[in-house]
Amino acid sequence: MFSPETGARPLADGASSTASEIGEVLVSEQDLQRRVRELGQAISRDYEGRRLLLVGVLKGAVFFLSDLMRYIDIPVEVDFMAVASYGSATDSSGVVRILKDLDIAIEGRDVLIVEDIVDSGLTLQYLLRNLGSRNPASLEVCALLTKPERRKVELPTRYIGFEVPNQFVIGYGLDHGERYRNLPYVAVLQR
Ligand code: 5GP
Repeated sequence: MFSPETGARPLADGASSTASEIGEVLVSEQDLQRRVRELGQAISRDYEGRRLLLVGVLKGAVFFLSDLMRYIDIPVEVDFMAVASYGSATDSSGVVRILKDLDIAIEGRDVLIVEDIVDSGLTLQYLLRNLGSRNPASLEVCALLTKPERRKVELPTRYIGFEVPNQFVIGYGLDHGERYRNLPYVAVLQR
């Protein structure tokens, strides 16, 4: 709970028992909010007069997307996809399975994929191919984080929040075993 007297924000319940797993903070809450506002303003300018549809990739992008949407001041709709990537716990293989498809048909729509993090790029490559084959008017990517050192395929990512080093990160939607999504900042997972 937020304390109005001290302004202190204790760790959320989900994080408190293993707080030692939360390592160095890479992106603070203030920097996240400032950058998300800038991205929302840029998207509003770039898509003025068009029918923008944000496609959020579950679950990690939900937190970023809901903040981002509040900084977009043109008409905008939202839909979600859930995908599972085959591979080890830390490496995606590029073989992706759709767990939940879009509800909305995207033919002729201006589609912006909203992702939490681009790591190898293989998941995004699959999404770009899959959604691209549905004939949208345009298809672009907005990713909160990117790990350029890990990239296996180069992809056009029009909007990027922050570059992070080659470390496993948690918070602001990003999980470790489904935990830590509720942290208001991005930190390194300390193993
Ligand atoms: P890619 O296909 O680009 O290798 O993997 C993308 C997905 O892997 C992301 O959408 C995210 O779900 C997961 N991922 C990649 N790096 C990290 C990380 O550092 N932390 C967390 N929590 N998930 C990551």
